[in-house]
Amino acid sequence: QRRFPNEPEYIQAVSQVLETIEEEYNKHPEFERVNLIERLCIPDRIIKFRVNWVDDKGNIQTNMGYRVQHSNVIGPYKGGLRFHTSVNESILKFLAFEQTFKNSLTTLPMGGGKGGSDFSPRGKSNAEVMRFCQAFMSELWHYIGPDCDVPAGDIGVGGREVGYMFGQYKKLTHQFVGILTGKGQEFGGSLIRPEATGYGNVYFLQNMLKTRNIDLKGKTVLVSGSGNVAQYTIEKLLHLGAKPVTCSDSDGYIYDPDGINEEKLAYIMELKNIERGRIREYAEKYGVKYVPGAKPWFEKADIATPCATQNEINAEAATALINNGIIAVTKGANMPSTPEAVRIFQEAKVLYCPGKASNAGGVAVSGLEMTQNSERLKWDREEVDQKLHNIMDDIHENCVRYGTEPDGYVNYVKGANIAGFIKVAKAIMAQGIV
Ligand code: NDP
Repeated sequence: QRRFPNEPEYIQAVSQVLETIEEEYNKHPEFERVNLIERLCIPDRIIKFRVNWVDDKGNIQTNMGYRVQHSNVIGPYKGGLRFHTSVNESILKFLAFEQTFKNSLTTLPMGGGKGGSDFSPRGKSNAEVMRFCQAFMSELWHYIGPDCDVPAGDIGVGGREVGYMFGQYKKLTHQFVGILTGKGQEFGGSLIRPEATGYGNVYFLQNMLKTRNIDLKGKTVLVSGSGNVAQYTIEKLLHLGAKPVTCSDSDGYIYDPDGINEEKLAYIMELKNIERGRIREYAEKYGVKYVPGAKPWFEKADIATPCATQNEINAEAATALINNGIIAVTKGANMPSTPEAVRIFQEAKVLYCPGKASNAGGVAVSGLEMTQNSERLKWDREEVDQKLHNIMDDIHENCVRYGTEPDGYVNYVKGANIAGFIKVAKAIMAQGIV
């Protein structure tokens, strides 16, 4: 806090991890002797650069570009790129820090990083997005590589943006290598990567429900967001017989009491991925409620799954969810609950997990994409989905192992943080003072 007073999101993420690992940390005096905490919390390096690009009117636009390389003790830096007007150093540092633990949890050899820009693709033409991505990669390529740092997508960076950046990297280096994950199927992308975060989120939810013998079938679910993670969370919920009733974007949310079915989901995918429209249009098409400027947490349902952005559930929303009888909260997004909201969920003993556990499926399949690229092979859909499922089961098992409290309540936040921390800490110790 003293060193980074103007970075609230980063302080929030670090504080939450440190609070939950304290007990475990104190069992290891050898960690204290090598100043492990500071070495773990401060990123290896932050790369910051200017991005100039030309808009359709011929004006020169300038944005900031960043890559936070947090830790490579267990593998090459790995983590997404976020293109959104809200992007700043604090947000990327929190995401890179979280990513290090998340990647550790996946059991795959990946370190943690995150990057992005305050550029937003929203309202931009395809040609503008392409020129921006090319300009961004013209600087970033110096600092990444298949054995050094492998970025992926995040908010505002989907298949289109990854494709443009991959093309520019190839042009600059004359090399076709697995430098980004989330690539198109035609040029090295893994099957199931687009679905992975959403599917993994629901596999994790199933595991949590199983601990209380609750079936997902027939349960109503509040979903926020309508991007990549929200769409495939909804798809998997439908496969398993649940009933998603909301989704949102940064302008507001829709509530569909009949449930978002396969046909309506196909419409959302077309609306958000192709037409790049607003979720309000869903309400107009299907004649359902649209609430501008609000989030869906005050509606009644069995389960909530935030899949948009950080700090979208505050204390008031958490209290409303509990008063409405929520059973479980599982996170597609990174750090979507404020610290007060986390406390409220845990005190009420609802099934509640941190994003680094439930949304790790995306980076896990990114790790599998890296393996396929190195092997120059492509695995089939079933094989990747099965591996994803197994990884989510392992993460859940680790959370239960490290997070079960004396009264039997599983503190998934604590469990995920300790499981992720132990592996990273041991690797730091083994590699000396570097
Ligand atoms: P997308 O850009 O595909 O979708 C983001 C969605 O969230 C959009 O509906 C967007 O609305 C909404 N949103 C973004 N910012 C805000 C905001 N400030 N307030 C309200 N709504 C907002 O991103 P993803 O689906 O990929 O990512 C969603 C979350 O999941 C993020 O927290 C990300 O870090 C996390 N995540 C993503 C992974 C992945 O594989 N993609 C992996 C692990 C975590 P609008 O259309 O108006 O912009």
